[in-house]
Amino acid sequence: MAPKDGVRCWVCGRTVEEVVRSIGSPAPEPTEADKNVARVNDLRARFYKVVTDWEDNVPEQFRNMDFNFVMGNPSQFRALKFLDDIQQAQKTYGEPLAEISIHARKGDEIVVGEYKVAADDARRREVVIRELGEFEKRTGRSLAGLDGPKAKGFDGLKLGDGLRYLRDLGALNFTLQQRLLEVDLEEERKKLPTFSISMAKIKGFPKAVPLCTVCESLIKGL
Ligand SMILES: [Zn+2]
Repeated sequence: MAPKDGVRCWVCGRTVEEVVRSIGSPAPEPTEADKNVARVNDLRARFYKVVTDWEDNVPEQFRNMDFNFVMGNPSQFRALKFLDDIQQAQKTYGEPLAEISIHARKGDEIVVGEYKVAADDARRREVVIRELGEFEKRTGRSLAGLDGPKAKGFDGLKLGDGLRYLRDLGALNFTLQQRLLEVDLEEERKKLPTFSISMAKIKGFPKAVPLCTVCESLIKGL
C-alpha cells in the first residue's frame, strides 16, 4: 500500500522530496557499460570510413568481378592494394557472424567482439537472434547458410556489392554489441538507489507506518 502524496516519514519526518534533496542523486559516474558504448561507437565510425574508402577506390574494371573469386585469387589481383585488408575485415566481421548465428540458435555461449553472452542468458540471446534475423531479412542473405533458399554470405556478389555487404556485416557486428550494452545499461540503471516513502511494519508496533527508504534500511539494520 502506497501512502498519499506529501506524507512524511514517521521516523525522520521528511517528505520524499526532502529525502531526495538531503541525500542528493548519485553522481553520474561513467560506468563500464558507458565506456564500452563509447568504444563501440568509435570503432563503428572508423570501420565505416575504411570500407567507404575501399568502395570509392575499387578500379572500375574490377567492380563487376565475383567477390569470392577475387578474394580467393589475391596474387592475380595485386592491383587491388587493399585486398589483404578486405580479407582481414572478412575474417574479423564476416566469419564470426556466421559462428554467432549458429551458436545463438543452438543455445551455446555467444561471443560478439569483446562481449560474451552466457549460454543461459535468454534475454541477451533474444536480442542477438532478433538482430540477426532482421539483418538476414533485409539483405536477403543467410549468414551461416542455415536458411535454405537464401544465398550464403558473399556467394554470388560482385566485388562492389560484396564491399557494401562487408560494410553491412561490420555495422551488424557493432549494432549487436550496442544492443547488448543497452541491456547492460538498463540493468545498471535499475540498481541505482531510488527513494520513496512506503508503509512498513516496525517490530513492536501494531500498525504499519510510513517510512522513507533511508530510515527503513536503518531500522532493518538494527
Ligand atoms: Zn525517514
